[in-house]
Order: sequence, then structure tokens, then C-alpha cells
Amino acid sequence: MAILEPLTKEKTNFIKNIIEKDLKNNLFKNKLWAGYPAPSYKQNKNKIDKAKIRTRFPPEPNGYLHIGHAKSIFLNFSLALNYNGRCHLRFDDTNPDKENSEYVESIIKAIKWLGYSWDTDGENNLYYASDYFEYMFEFAESMIEGGYAYIDEQTQDEIKLNRGTLTEPGKNSPWRNRPIHESLSLFRDMRDGKFPNGHLVLRAKIDMSSPNINLRDPIIYRIRHIEHYRTKKKWCIYPMYNWAHPIEDALEGITHSICTLEFEDQRPFYDWTLNILYNLNKINKPFPRQYEFSKLNLTYIVTSKRKLLQLIEGNYVEGWDDPRMPTILGLCRRGYTPNSILNFCEKIPISKSESTIDYSILEQSLRDELELTAKRFMAVINPLKLIITNYPENKSEICYAPVNPHNPSDGIRKFNFCRELWINFDDFLENPTKGYFRLYPGNIVRLKYSYIIKCTKCIKDQNNNILEVHAEYIENTKSNTEGSNKFKVKGNITWVTQKYSSHANVILYDRLFNDPYPDSSGKNFLDYINDKSKVEAKIWLEEGIVLDHNDYWQFERMGYFKLDKKQTNHIPIINRIVTLKDSWKNSK
Ligand code: ATP
Ligand code: MG
Repeated sequence: MAILEPLTKEKTNFIKNIIEKDLKNNLFKNKLWAGYPAPSYKQNKNKIDKAKIRTRFPPEPNGYLHIGHAKSIFLNFSLALNYNGRCHLRFDDTNPDKENSEYVESIIKAIKWLGYSWDTDGENNLYYASDYFEYMFEFAESMIEGGYAYIDEQTQDEIKLNRGTLTEPGKNSPWRNRPIHESLSLFRDMRDGKFPNGHLVLRAKIDMSSPNINLRDPIIYRIRHIEHYRTKKKWCIYPMYNWAHPIEDALEGITHSICTLEFEDQRPFYDWTLNILYNLNKINKPFPRQYEFSKLNLTYIVTSKRKLLQLIEGNYVEGWDDPRMPTILGLCRRGYTPNSILNFCEKIPISKSESTIDYSILEQSLRDELELTAKRFMAVINPLKLIITNYPENKSEICYAPVNPHNPSDGIRKFNFCRELWINFDDFLENPTKGYFRLYPGNIVRLKYSYIIKCTKCIKDQNNNILEVHAEYIENTKSNTEGSNKFKVKGNITWVTQKYSSHANVILYDRLFNDPYPDSSGKNFLDYINDKSKVEAKIWLEEGIVLDHNDYWQFERMGYFKLDKKQTNHIPIINRIVTLKDSWKNSK
């Protein structure tokens, strides 16, 4: 699979081209819209649609939305915004098995967090396909009456067997030509709960020898005795997705129904259904048109809801919004910004060819934003005591640093320097390796925003563990003073004072998988979990930092950080969103 490099912003894409052509041809000039989803006989009494186009984002509430969905959300909502249209949020909840209200809530929360609204201009375009069950039942009855559908009594195995293959035509069901009144009354009996699951199905009557298997009398209704999270026990028959979808689009007056490539083979059935329902006076023209684009695939993640659920149920992560999950709410909790996700979606191409985008492009999108906006602080993880032996014990001096070097207007931060400091453990080596510029006995480095120091020695316990490092500061070398350029130093060490720093818990998140293609064929993705994807530690923070939930921080030389949205105890939890540089480059 190809891994794409970052692309420049796409000015146009094939879907935009189609829309522009449609608008130029005035395709929707006479399109009616009652102000709510309805069949043609309710629309006709009403007015012309003010919206130039209508798109929809149709998630099934059977899981949380993931980064792949973000691409579809971005596409559908931004097209509506660009062309003076509307984008509907429609819950495609026609399959009661795995759907629930928690998922509905999570989807609403994720889309709102991204910044989109379906409530514009006095129209609240939030819909549930399950609200259309009555219409769907009516349409199905009408199809039976028109000779376009029949009740089949074959077993599931027989139906499968008689469907034929890609090279062989299917066989007509023995029930295909049963009298219309018989199908109609059996269909009503199905609805009335007179048969067990799977006993009968309603099938469209199209063509059992069609080269497109999806047109070989597809099933359009099945019996399922299960409570639906919204309609409860009202129905025990449920429409099949491929038949329900064009109906949902038509009822809502959708103009451009954008979906992913796996539905391409279903398009003829989509169009067939619309034509039949038009002939039966159930829906209007112009019809919604289906367009397909390729799914977003990213390296180092899995997106299938089934697999995400396996990660949760197997306790590999702590829920749908675990900061390592590729869900939108997981990314939100991790510390991603809505803009970094939308910019990422804009950067990647909209096309019909399958590709896999490197995960680092998403990370870079966040860095690009936070580089310009995040507040800088110094922080220390894995602290090592540094004592400036020639600095008086009770003395302290103020140091100055920009809040964000790109924005002078963000101001200056101030913090004390004194004798006893913390530095990061790996900023000292007793026996330096080649090219190591940081602290080692005899070396001279700058303590960032403060003095130049010379390392004198380290103190160890009897097991040879380093307990503390000693150094001497060099007078008149403080940053921003005249003498600051007196020495050229290569190392620049970040630090905090022992006296004035505060501490918190930090979680160093990293990629959940250590393989770029954890679920490619022949692999079990659970074998590729990165056991260092969540490392907990303590962090010592520069004096003056305010732990505000709205803030994004760059801890200098470390990465970008944000408070976790879920705080469990009185010591704050900070998440590392991403490191400053891509540490995965060239690995694996
Ligand atoms: P999954 O297969 O990951 O469980 P799904 O396709 O069943 O997801 P839906 O809730 O049916 O999830 O998807 C809602 C919309 O989002 C659909 O229009 C679907 O085509 C689109 N979508 C889903 N996954 C992606 C993806 N990876 N990239 C772009 N669009 C996607
Ligand atoms: Mg689906």
C-alpha cells in the first residue's frame, strides 16, 4: 500500500466538480422541501427548497465515531457550507442489534466538538431513520401491490445457494410468482409478529440472472424479534440497509448522497428503488444521487468498530474515549484540537483510489497548530537533582521567557532560579558518548533562560546509582544580560527549581500499535499492541503554570501536553498528546 506524503491543500475534488456542474445545470431548481422529511404526497403541497444542495452524514449508532468518520463529516458538512446547502445528521438506526442511545450521544458530542451544526436557519436537520419505519412499511406494501416485491419462504441457506455466483446466474425462488394478495397478507402477518426470526423475508423482484449479484432479488425486510432502542417493541420486522438508505435520502430531499467505495456495487439497487418508488408516487424527482469515495485508512490504527470493541472488551484500552483510541472523542481527550483534525481532513485527497495515510501526518497537523498557539513551559520527568554549589542557599533570581516565541503579544513568563534544581535524568551522563552535548563532568552548558554552568561531579550511592549532580554557575552569563554571549555552549538544558515547581501526574501516550498495518491480512491486530503506549510518570512543572482545562502546553524539548478531561484524584493528570518530533520515523 502506498503511504502518502503530506499534500498541499486540495482546491477541488471530483465531488465538488459534480456539485458545481449540477448547480450550473439548475438540477435542483424545482426541488420541493416541506421543511421536514416526507414522501412526495406531503412535499408537493409545499415550497421549493431554499437549500442549494443537501448532503447527510449517516452514522449507525453502534459505536463511537473514529478518525475515518471525521473525513466523511468534514466532506459532507463543508460541502453544505461551501454551496449554501444543508448537511443532515441522520442516525442510520434500522438495525436494532447493536445500536443504543449512548452511541447516539457520543456521535452528537463528537460532531459538535468538531464544530459542525445541523441546526441552521431555523431548520434542525437531526434525523433518525427509525422515524421512517411507518413510511418504509407503507412503501414496501406498495411495492408488493405493484408486483415489485414478494414474500419468500426459502430458508436462509436456500436463498444463499440460489443466488448464484459471479459467473453463474441465480435461480428464481419457487415463491417468486405467488399471488400479490398472498405476499401482502404474509407481510402484514410478519409485522404482526406471527412468525419467528428468519421464517420469511420480503424480497425485491428484480432479476435473478443480473450480472450484479446485488440485483438478484435482494432482501428488503426481515423478521427480528428484538427491542429497538427508540421504537422499543413496536416493530419485529426491520428493513435492510441497502433498501432503506435510498428511501431515507429521498424522504430528506438529499441531493448528493456521499458514501464510501464498498457501496459502489449497490448503486444500481439504490437507483432501482428510487425509480420504483417514484412510479408508485411515493417520492419526488430530482432523485438523490449516490457518489462514492475511498475510505480514509491510517497506519498504526484500526478503525473497524468491531475491532475497537474488541480492544475495549479485552481491556487493552479503557473505553471508547481512551486517549489511545482513534475515535474522535479519544483524540479529543488525548488533547487533539478540532482544527488539527479538520486541517488533516482537508490535506488528504478525496478520491476513488484506496490509499493509506501515514499516521505522522495527523500528528504533524497537531504540531503545526500547537507550535503557533501552545503556551511554553519547562518541565522535568525523571528528575535528577542538580545543585549549583557556588550559588547562595537563600538567593533567587527571576528569569524571563516568552509564553510563545511566535506571539510576542502572549507576553513573558517569569520564574525563579535558585541553588537546587531538577533536571531530566537523561540530560546527564557520567561518561558521555560521542556527540553528547549535555551535562557531564567538566562540560559547560546553559540552563535555559538562566546561567551557564560547569558540571563538577556527580554523587552516587553504594550501588552506583546517581543521586545528584553538582555544578558551578558562571557569573554574568544569565540569558538576556550583556554577558550572556561570553561562552559558546552546545547544550541547552531545561530545568525547574525544587523550591518553586509544582508536580502532577503525567501519562506519556504513544501509538497503540507498534506495526503500521496491524490488521492487514493474515495478522491478528491484538498481537501488535505497543506495550509502551501508556506510560505513567510524575512531572515537575515550571512555577506559575496554571492547570487550566482550556490550555495546550508545549513542555520545552518534550512535546505537547494537555490536562486529561477525566481527573480521578486530587493530583492533576496531564496527557502527552504528541512528542515534539516524530520518533517513529524510519523505525520498523
Ligand atoms: P466501520 O466499518 O468502521 O465500523 P461504518 O462504515 O460501518 O464503520 P457508519 O456508521 O456506517 O460506519 O459510517 C457513517 C458514514 O461514515 C458512512 O457514510 C461511511 O461511509 C463513512 N465512513 C466510515 N468509515 C469511513 C472511513 N474510514 N473514511 C471515510 N468515511 C468513512
Ligand atoms: Mg455501517
